[in-house]
Amino acid sequence: MTDDRPHLAVIGAGPAGLAATVAAAAHGVHVTLIDSAARAGGQFYRQPAAELNAGRPQALHHQWRTWERLKDALAHHVEAGHVRLLTDHHVWLVERRLNQWLNQRAGDADRNAFTVHALLGPEQETPAEVRADAVLLATGGYEKVLPFPGWTVPGVLTAGGAQAMLKGTLAVSGRTAVVAGTGPLLLPVATGLAAAGVEVAALVESADPKAFVRRTRALAAQPGKVAEGAQYAAQLLRHRVRLLTRHTVVAAHGDERLEAVTVATLDTDGRVRPGTERRIACDTLAVGHGMLPHTDLAETLGCRLDGIDVQVDDEQRTDVPGVWAAGETTGIGGAALSLAEGHIAGRSAAARLNGTEPDPRTWAPAAKSRTKLREFFAALDTVYAPPARWTDLVTDDTVVCRCEEVTGGAVREAVDGLGAGDIRTVKLLTRAGMGWCQGRMCGPAVAGLAGCELTPSRRPFARPVPLGVLARAGEPESEAEPE
Ligand SMILES: Cc1cc2nc3c(=O)[nH]c(=O)nc-3n(C[C@H](O)[C@H](O)[C@H](O)COP(=O)(O)OP(=O)(O)OC[C@H]3O[C@@H](n4cnc5c(N)ncnc54)[C@H](O)[C@@H]3O)c2cc1C
Repeated sequence: MTDDRPHLAVIGAGPAGLAATVAAAAHGVHVTLIDSAARAGGQFYRQPAAELNAGRPQALHHQWRTWERLKDALAHHVEAGHVRLLTDHHVWLVERRLNQWLNQRAGDADRNAFTVHALLGPEQETPAEVRADAVLLATGGYEKVLPFPGWTVPGVLTAGGAQAMLKGTLAVSGRTAVVAGTGPLLLPVATGLAAAGVEVAALVESADPKAFVRRTRALAAQPGKVAEGAQYAAQLLRHRVRLLTRHTVVAAHGDERLEAVTVATLDTDGRVRPGTERRIACDTLAVGHGMLPHTDLAETLGCRLDGIDVQVDDEQRTDVPGVWAAGETTGIGGAALSLAEGHIAGRSAAARLNGTEPDPRTWAPAAKSRTKLREFFAALDTVYAPPARWTDLVTDDTVVCRCEEVTGGAVREAVDGLGAGDIRTVKLLTRAGMGWCQGRMCGPAVAGLAGCELTPSRRPFARPVPLGVLARAGEPESEAEPE
């Protein structure tokens, strides 16, 4: 630490973490901002690698001016010594020592109640630790993956993965793409690929546009979002992208490489209408069915969840003293909501770490925007849901868990033949979820096939950790050096 200010560790340098860092640093707190990526920006403001010397990085982005403001403010605070930015740091655990936090709140000089444990660089084998007085979790979300026949063929990737590749490396994965699934993320993905020169043969959305009509109140409250949707629609038209609503991909075809997909119409119950199947030639399928919040670090800290989201109060505080959360870890809702939540969390943390009661009037515009955006995304959630009968498409030989190569048939046998009624029992009987990703990818699919709710899995660590690192954790020399 470079000064005697209270010290906040912010994990995640996406819109939420950046807004929180800038707000806290501007109000007298020393911040260490930690992210696993090579550059700050998160998913929404993902930047091309510096070596690519991108001439017009803004071409693939919207709200570029907001990013420039955040980036400049961050640079200013880093230069002034108020913020330390640690990129390429993969956090696997945040440890909390209860007594130190209580002493600190009572005015005792005892500080550093939290230790953030990270692994450095692409190999993720070298440990680093950051000690802080409080922690703000802004770890975002990840995509919900649902299996179907052929989803493991090379050329099939997640919608966000295609977008991340485009924004981060300026590369596209093929010449002709189909973008499919459900949710607002499909729009920037389809238009981004088309703008990069890919022929987008179709945007296949399983939601029914009529469902929007029933939610006109929530839509009318967000004219900016409606205008954004209209801009995407105009771009789809300009690039001649065929929009197929109430459709779904039933299979991907190809051996070494994707050659085509079969799409079909859905009926009102979410079942495929027999006889409506048609084949679309393509070498890329970007498919996404919505997002799930990253909650591993919050769970190990003991933070209460609300369903699958980290629960927070009006100040973005979790129920664990000294831990704030902001952005998509508290619920999926897009970059603007993440910015508002991050701003509020940063200001609240700064006030409380400086020993004062925060005044919510100082963040009133952000709070107003948060309320409206939460309502808007709650309405969108009811529209953009995977087809109700998506599990009908998972044939018995479809791989469900890629890490352990567990098929749909094996999961069904565990449920119907052996009586498994929850994800954990299916895991014990089939090994689904026992591999490298620890069920992060196959969890929703296994829950769907088992007919149970997707519940948080209480993993002890947010990512795999070498045993040697685990054994040495907490030794004094592993504190991260300032860059
Ligand atoms: C792959 C992908 C691509 C997306 N592309 C778009 C898009 O183009 N347009 C759009 O409107 N929305 C996009 N989204 C949605 C987007 O995530 C959100 O709207 C927005 O970025 C959320 O902001 P956030 O700050 O909550 O989280 P994020 O932007 O997701 O930032 C979270 C940050 O936390 C870091 N992190 C997470 N866990 C750890 C850990 N254990 N250790 C260290 N760092 C960690 C991540 O590296 C990331 O930088 C995308 C989502 C995904 C998953």
